[in-house]
Formats: sequence, structure tokens, C-alpha cells
Amino acid sequence: MHHRLAILGHPIGHSLSPVFHTTALQLCGLEGSYEAIDVAPAALTRTWHEELRDRSTGLNITLPHKVEIMRLMDDVAGDARESGAVNTAVRTEGGWVGHNTDVAGVERTLSHLRSSFADGSIVVIGAGGAARAVLHALGRMAPGRDVFVINRNRERAELLCETFRRVFPSLRPLSANGPEGADIARASALLIQATPVGMHPQEGRRPLEGLDVFSTGQVVFDLIYRPRETRFLSDARASGATVVGGLEMFLHQAAASFELWTGVTPPIDKLRPVIEQHLTEGT
Ligand code: NAP
Repeated sequence: MHHRLAILGHPIGHSLSPVFHTTALQLCGLEGSYEAIDVAPAALTRTWHEELRDRSTGLNITLPHKVEIMRLMDDVAGDARESGAVNTAVRTEGGWVGHNTDVAGVERTLSHLRSSFADGSIVVIGAGGAARAVLHALGRMAPGRDVFVINRNRERAELLCETFRRVFPSLRPLSANGPEGADIARASALLIQATPVGMHPQEGRRPLEGLDVFSTGQVVFDLIYRPRETRFLSDARASGATVVGGLEMFLHQAAASFELWTGVTPPIDKLRPVIEQHLTEGT
């Protein structure tokens, strides 16, 4: 089989997915191609019908199309339905099925650290698509735990909490500025940063600027992978926390997409240095 794969986004120039999947196809001895396609929001439906639906065998979908693509799918799998976003589409005999492998990316990234946050509360900063995938993954890994959401837009945080309160009954939003948020973040066992604040080229910034939110023994996970270690993570490391950057999640969500398209597990240990090399050259 010849795999005809692509990623849709706007803009799409800096995506590392073409490097990952082109290398994975080679390493696994599979025939195929993976291209980056820049599609403006107004052109999504036309591009889908005219260029992709009958020609591609699998797609990644990134910002700003992760929600809009759902209505073009013939079916949407559980992870994507629960997260409200599709980042992977698979062409099957029954039609196109949308998935969300960011959820598997979070789960696989945190799985070996489970014992480090087995007790205590969890704080998620951000209430966008990535935060939804995080909460969905945590719902499987740590159901019923005390979880808090800190977001700039309080209304959006409220909405997110409403959706996930069936898994975390005590889930509630916290103010991004007040001392209560900082105290609860500092006391948490697991602190997850799911906003773009601190991403290249704005490396100097970090969420909850000026607040003392880290502590020794805490696990701090930042979803950003460019730079490899954000200011948020280096401040957390200086406070004695165990830090995890977004590269592991990128690798695991990409591997999960590749498995859905090809049925083959790509060798992450061989792909990690390839992606690291590109990150070093690109920033
Ligand atoms: P999104 O849906 O656009 O949501 C962005 C979130 O960040 C919102 O909660 C937004 O708050 C908050 N935010 C944005 N700018 C902010 C600012 N200046 N100050 C405070 N809060 C701000 O984006 P997303 O898809 O969730 O992505 C979030 C991050 O996760 C991105 O950096 C992305 O690269 C990363 N990510 C990484 C991976 C990986 O594989 N490692 C996968 C997916 C995403 P408001 O609601 O107030 O606007």
C-alpha cells in the first residue's frame, strides 16, 4: 500500500510532523509520502472535497482546523468526540474517521511518572484544545482527583470545567492573578502548562509571571516543545520540580497517528534524535 499522508494547517511552515512521518515511513520500510498543506480557513471545505477526500489515506490536522474538520468526517472516534477536536483523520472502508492522538500523547508522556503524582491535586493552565486533551487523558489516568483550571478567560475555564466535572466532580476554575491560584498551583502534585505563552519567538515569557507556583517534588509538564525547555520549566527546575517538556508529547501523539494510518509502531528512540536535531537547527 502507498500511504498518501499530509498535515493541514494555517500557517504550517514550522511543523515538525513532515520530518517525523517521512523518517518514520523510511525507518519502517513503508511506501508513501507526507506533505504539509497550508489551507486558509475559508478554503478548508473546498480543499477537502477537491484535493483530499479521495486522494489521501491519512491526515494530521492542526490549528486552526481541529474543530472545523469534524463536520467533514464520516465518523468521530471517542477520544476526539470527548476532546471536541480532531488532530488525525484515517481513511477506512467505511469512510473518514477523526481521532485525537494528543490524548494518547499526554497519557504516554506521563505514564512513567504516575507514581510521582499518585497523591495530591492537579492544576492545568489553559482552557483551549490542548487543555481539553490533557483533561481527557487525566480522566483515564487519575479519575476523581482534585483538579483546577487556571485560564486568562474565566468563562472559557468555566465551560471546560462543566464538561469534565463528570470525571472530576470537584473540578473548578481559579483566577490567573489571585494568590489563591498561586497557592493551589504550588501545593499541586502535577502542574501542566497548556498555553502558547513562552513559545518561540517569545521565550522570555511565562504564565503566572511573578507568582511563586513551584515546589520541590512536584511534576511540571509544559506542552511547548520549541524551545525544548521553556522559562516556565527552567523556573520549575530551579525550585526542585521534576520537569517534562512538550517534545515527548509531540513524539507520542505523532507515533499514535502513524499507528492509526499504517498499523505499524514507529521506532521513537530512532526518531527522537532526528526531531531534536531539527529543533536545534530551527530555533
Ligand atoms: P488554543 O486552543 O488556541 O488555546 C490556547 C490557550 O492558551 C487558551 O486557554 C488561551 O487563553 C491561552 N492563552 C493564549 N495566549 C495567552 C496569553 N498571552 N496569556 C494567557 N493565556 C493565553 O491552543 P492549544 O491548541 O490548546 O495549544 C496550546 C499549546 O499547546 C500550544 O503552545 C501548542 O503548541 C501546545 N501543544 C503541544 C502539543 C505537543 O505535541 N507537544 C500538542 C498540542 C498543543 P484564553 O482562553 O484566555 O484565550
